[in-house]
Amino acid sequence: MSAARTGTTLSVIVPMYNEEEALPALVARLRPVLDGTGASYEVLAVDDGSTDGTADLLEKHRTEWPELRIIRLRGNSGHQAALRAGLHRSRGAYVASLDADLQDPPEKVPEMLDLARAENLDIVYGVRSDRSTDTGFKRRTAGAYYWLMRRLVGKQVPAQAGDFRLLSREAVEALKALPDQQQVYRLLVPWLGFPSGQVTYRRGERVAGETKYPLSKMIRLAVDGITNFSAAPLRIATWLGVVSFVACILLICASLVVFLLGRTVPGWTSLFVAMLFLGGVQLICVGLLGEYIGRIYTAVQRRPTYFVGYDSADAGADDDRAE
Ligand code: UDP
Ligand code: MG
Repeated sequence: MSAARTGTTLSVIVPMYNEEEALPALVARLRPVLDGTGASYEVLAVDDGSTDGTADLLEKHRTEWPELRIIRLRGNSGHQAALRAGLHRSRGAYVASLDADLQDPPEKVPEMLDLARAENLDIVYGVRSDRSTDTGFKRRTAGAYYWLMRRLVGKQVPAQAGDFRLLSREAVEALKALPDQQQVYRLLVPWLGFPSGQVTYRRGERVAGETKYPLSKMIRLAVDGITNFSAAPLRIATWLGVVSFVACILLICASLVVFLLGRTVPGWTSLFVAMLFLGGVQLICVGLLGEYIGRIYTAVQRRPTYFVGYDSADAGADDDRAE
C-alpha cells in the first residue's frame, strides 16, 4: 500500500518485549509529541511475543488512541525481527523506530522528520552523544562492536547509532527488497548508501523494567553482523591453518635432525603441546565453518524470521513475501 493511498505521513515502530512497566510512560510521552507534529501518523507497537501484560495493556491504550496499531508476533522472535515486521507493515511516507523503554527520546522524532524533509534525506540517524547511563561493560563492548563494523561495512556506519532512526519510504522499500534473513538493520541501513543526516541525543535511562538484551542476545547480534558482512573470519581460519602447518613442518624437520643425530629425547612435552595446539586450531576452524554453513542453511530454507499473529489494522502488508 503506498503512502499516497493511505495518506499516512509518519509510521513509528516500537518493538516491545515484556514492556508492561514501561508502556504507560511511553504512551504518555510519545502521544503528545506525535499529536504535536500535526502530521497524520500511525504507531506500530510490535509485540514481540510478550508473556506479561503488554498485550492487554496495548489493547487498553488503543481504545483511546486510534493511531496506535498493534502487531503481535507469534512467540519471541527478537528485536531485529520485530523491527522487520514493523518495516514490512508500515505505511507512512517516513518510518521512525525507537525503543519502548524511552532510552530514545520521542521528542527527537519530529526533529528527524523536519531534517529529512528540509534537506531531502532518506535516512536520519539518532546518534548517542552520551552513553553515561549504560554500564561500563556495555559501553566498552559497544565501542569494540562499532569499531569492527566500521571496518567491515565501510566508514559510513555512524558510531553510536543504534536502531533509533528515521527512514524514507524509498529506503524502507529498498530494505524490504533485500532477501537476507538475519538482517542487522543498523548495518544494512548505512550500507544502502542513501543520503543521510544525523540528530544527536542523550541516551536516557531505561524508564522501567529490565533490559531485554542479555549478553547472549548481544553476542548473537554481533555474530550476525560480522558474518552478514564479511567472510574475514573464514580467511582467519585459513591463515591459522597455514601458520600451524608451517610450524608443524618445522617441528618435523627439527625432530628428524634430532633423530639423525641420535639424540632422541623422550619428547612427551613437544608431542603433547603440538597435539593440543593442532586440536584447538582445528576445532576453531570447524566451528567457524559451521557458523557460516548454518547461515547458508537458514538462508536456503527461506523460513520467515517471524509470524504475525494479529494486526489490529488487519489490512496485512502489501508484500509479505520476504517476511
Ligand atoms: N526487544 C524486543 N524483542 C527482544 C528483545 C528486546 O522487541 O527479544 C525490544 C525491547 O522491548 C526494547 C528494545 O527491543 O523496546 C530494546 O531492548 P532493551 O531496551 O531491553 O535493550 P538495551 O537498551 O538494554 O540494549
Ligand atoms: Mg533499552
